[in-house]
Amino acid sequence: MPTTTRIHNFSAGPAVLPVAVLEEAQRNLISLPGVGMSVMEISHRSSTFEDLLNGAIEDIRALANVPSNYRILMLQGGASLQFSMVPMNLLPAGAAADYVDTGSWSDKAIKEAKKVGKVNLAGTTKADSYARIPAQSELKLSPDAAYVHITSNNTIEGTEWTALPDVGGVPLVADTSSDMFSRPIDVSRFGLIYAGAQKNLGPSGVTLVIIREDLLARSSDALPTMLNYKVHADNNSLYNTPNTFGIYILGLTMKWVRGLGGLSAIAALNQRKAGKIYAEIDRTGFYRGTAQKDSRSLMNVTFRLATEDLEKAFVKESTAAGLDGLKGHRAVGGMRASIYNAFPEEGVDALVEFMREFERKRG
Ligand SMILES: *Cc1c(COP(=O)(O)O)cnc(C)c1O
Repeated sequence: MPTTTRIHNFSAGPAVLPVAVLEEAQRNLISLPGVGMSVMEISHRSSTFEDLLNGAIEDIRALANVPSNYRILMLQGGASLQFSMVPMNLLPAGAAADYVDTGSWSDKAIKEAKKVGKVNLAGTTKADSYARIPAQSELKLSPDAAYVHITSNNTIEGTEWTALPDVGGVPLVADTSSDMFSRPIDVSRFGLIYAGAQKNLGPSGVTLVIIREDLLARSSDALPTMLNYKVHADNNSLYNTPNTFGIYILGLTMKWVRGLGGLSAIAALNQRKAGKIYAEIDRTGFYRGTAQKDSRSLMNVTFRLATEDLEKAFVKESTAAGLDGLKGHRAVGGMRASIYNAFPEEGVDALVEFMREFERKRG
C-alpha cells in the first residue's frame, strides 16, 4: 500500500489522532510559523511555548466550561503515576479514601493507593466480571472519606458510568483516561480529574490533571517535589521540562474538538458511532456484547463470538481487511473496538459491514 494510506485503527491506546492535527503538525514540524524552529527545539520557557501551553489550557477551559477555581495541569508519568499521586497528595495520614472497583484499571489504582494509605472498597462489580457499573444503592460511601475514586470509562471491560455517583460533599476523583472530552462533563462535580492523553486527547507522555484549587492545600511540602500537585500548579506545569511536543499535539487536538462544535457535538457523533456497532451486535445473537446494556461504553465496544476459534478467525480476517487492533485485551479475550473521538465514522461503517459479512459466511 502507498506509505501514506491510513488503515482503520481500533487501537485502545495510543490511539488514532485526527488527520487534520497530524497534517498541521507535519506542516509545522520543521519550523513553527514565524519561529524558524520546531516545537521540539525551543525552550519550554520561551514565550512561543508558553503561548502554546496557555492556549491549550484555555481551549480545555472553554471546551469543558472548567470553573475558575480549578487548575489545569499537564504532567508526565501517565495515568498510572496518578494512581500514586492522588493518594500521596489527597489522602492525609489517619484518613481513608473510598474506591469503587469497576475493572482492571480501578484495581490498579486501588493497589497503588493501598501502598500510600487506608483504602475503603466502596463498591465492586468484580463478581459480575466487571460487566456493569454499580448502582448508587450498592455503594458503601463514608461521609468522612478523604475522597471517592472512580474510573469513568473501563477501557478493558467496555463499561462506562452514564451518571456520576452522588458522593455528597466528599471530593470525587475520576480516572477519565479513556473517555475524557468524549461527552459534556460537569467539572464542578469533581475534586480532581486525570487522564493519560493517549486515548482521547493527544499522544502519550502527557497527563491532564484538573484539580479544584482548595485541594492543593492538602499537598504536603514533605512530598517529593515532582509528585506534588501544588508545585506543578504554582509553576503552571513548568517546574521542569514538560513534554513540549505532546502538549503541542494535545493543543491542536483540543482546537479540533472545538472546531467540530465542542463536547455536545462530539457526544452526538460518539453516540451514533457506538450505536451502529451495538445495533449490529444486538441484531441476531451471533455476536454477544460483554457489557450490560445500561453500562455500555461509547468508547470501547467489547464483544465475543460463540467460540475462541471463531474469535481468532474474526481477528485474523478483520486485520487482513484493514481493520486493525480489534483483538480484545489479553485479560478478557474476545474483541474490542476502541472508537475514540478521532476515530472516523467511515471506520465504524467498515467494521459493521465486515461483521455482517463474517456472520453471513460463518453464522
Ligand atoms: C490506559 C489507561 C490507564 C493507563 O494509562 P497510562 O497513561 O499508560 O498510565 C489508566 N486508566 C485507564 C482508564 C486507562 O484507559
